[in-house]
Amino acid sequence: MPIRRLPEGTINRIAAGEVVERPASVVKELVENALDAGAGRIEVVFEQGGRTLIRVRDDGSGIAPDELPLAVERHATSKLKDDDLVLISTLGFRGEALASIGAVSRLRLASRKASGDGGYEIRVEGGRAGTLRPAAVPSGTEAEVRDLFFAVPARLKFLKGERAETAESLDVIRRLAMAHPKVAFAVIAAERLALDLPRGQTPEERAEAVLGIEFMRNSVSLDARREDVSLIGFAGLPTYSRAQANQQYLFVNGRPVRDKLLAGAVRGAYADVLPAGRHPALVLFLAVPPETVDVNVHPAKAEVRFRDPGLVRGLIVGAIRQALGAERPRSSTGLSTRMWGTFRPPEPASNGFAEPAAVFEGFDRPSAPPSSSAEDHLDQPLGAVRAQLHDAFIVSQTRDGMVIVDFHAAHERLVYERLKAERAEKGVAVQPLLVPEVVDLDPASVSLIEAHAQELAVAGLAVEGFGPSAVLVREIPAILSGASVAKLVKDIADDLSAEERASSLNARVDRVLSTMACHGSVRAGRKLKPDEMNALLREMEATPHSGTCNHGRPTYVELKLADIERLFGRR
Ligand code: ADP
Ligand code: MG
Repeated sequence: MPIRRLPEGTINRIAAGEVVERPASVVKELVENALDAGAGRIEVVFEQGGRTLIRVRDDGSGIAPDELPLAVERHATSKLKDDDLVLISTLGFRGEALASIGAVSRLRLASRKASGDGGYEIRVEGGRAGTLRPAAVPSGTEAEVRDLFFAVPARLKFLKGERAETAESLDVIRRLAMAHPKVAFAVIAAERLALDLPRGQTPEERAEAVLGIEFMRNSVSLDARREDVSLIGFAGLPTYSRAQANQQYLFVNGRPVRDKLLAGAVRGAYADVLPAGRHPALVLFLAVPPETVDVNVHPAKAEVRFRDPGLVRGLIVGAIRQALGAERPRSSTGLSTRMWGTFRPPEPASNGFAEPAAVFEGFDRPSAPPSSSAEDHLDQPLGAVRAQLHDAFIVSQTRDGMVIVDFHAAHERLVYERLKAERAEKGVAVQPLLVPEVVDLDPASVSLIEAHAQELAVAGLAVEGFGPSAVLVREIPAILSGASVAKLVKDIADDLSAEERASSLNARVDRVLSTMACHGSVRAGRKLKPDEMNALLREMEATPHSGTCNHGRPTYVELKLADIERLFGRR
């Protein structure tokens, strides 16, 4: 076949594929245009997940009639000053969105400048532009996209169901809305108001409006800076973690991004406090000098490239860890709301105390009344121990409420933090076994243990292969003395097989330490003496991350006196 130039329409449809993958990409481009035009309010309507209709209207600058035909042409933009690709402050700049959308749908662009006289519209169908016509529009711009991909039916096959496409578009809008708290957003999907955000919010109010009050209650605020890179936002507590990473809102210079480096930094920051498979909710606004970041990597993929990725990663990991650790041990307050439901008022017919004695079942009645020093504990954040219930919980009293501690979970975290501190100082203190212990394992586990012998040694476990289906343990961490060596080794083998190969040695050792910590912790069921319990609370107060156990669950919950009083109708 001879070489020939492709017709304009074909070129446009090929280019369109880069920009317009699905309805959400159209929504993104149109809403970005509205934001670039300085809109104060943006309304989005879509039907059938955006397949049949996407309409975005704004009260921004508007487009002059003579520029409307240009706006839908390829590589026509008003946003690139002096062709400077480095200092780009607007969201769009390639001048190909409208042309691409027009190439694969029926597009109508109507606009009126506040200063000009009357509105105009232009239509584009499958890449063919019509003529400019007068139209009745309020000042601002309305872009209407009907029958998306009618011109490239192959694409239609790749669209998901209406619900999934709608969710995707809403997600795009939420992200843009989060970055522009001053702008009002209204979204109508399938004739229902799906999002309604007022004008003029602060970033905090917008985050709350988008993510909900529970997120705000269960997050810590971030404000950090390294060299000329700054980071603000909110980091969700580990106890507020999700099964999916879809509540992570990341912005670079006000632009929503989905970037591997940033996602990796977030994972690293939480590696210690969240188990695999759990993801934090968070909002991060990163500001870097524009010349140190390249946001043009891909028109639709929202990736960025930093000149100094190490600096950015370090800032994120450091800021989040510090914010989570610097908080006095704090676990989910949302849990107290959730707990609410469990404190049911008594049935009208009974007195509500079916088994009065059961409440204090398991209470380790001290032979003498609690030592007088117990009163000093009242002023501590986690209070003075009052009872041990069901051999699993400590109940303590604070000046303004009460705390219930899951002491098995809490102790596990303390042991883990102690192991990490030992390791950081002079290595994990080990205890040689008088008689090395042979642990029978399946051959796959044996080879895993052998392959990881190095990090296990760093973690204080001296272990070597002992034939194809057993290992020999010579030393264990001193803090675990008395634990079952066989159980420990089996758990570690399970953990090694579940773990990704990619993680660093440090991360792997931490994982091992975390698994070990479960074995060193006070078993639920053992009775603790009052002094031991108070000591545990005091140690929790002094230990970073102690509001969360190694598996991301809360170690304690708190009920304020006011809440208790409300429960009894005293407030
Ligand atoms: P880009 O945004 O990359 O410049 P687009 O194809 O999205 O490219 O838009 C082309 C041009 O049309 C923009 O540069 C802008 O001048 C104009 N335009 C598009 N949408 C709007 C809008 N909502 N309000 C004002 N002008 C707009
Ligand atoms: Mg644009």
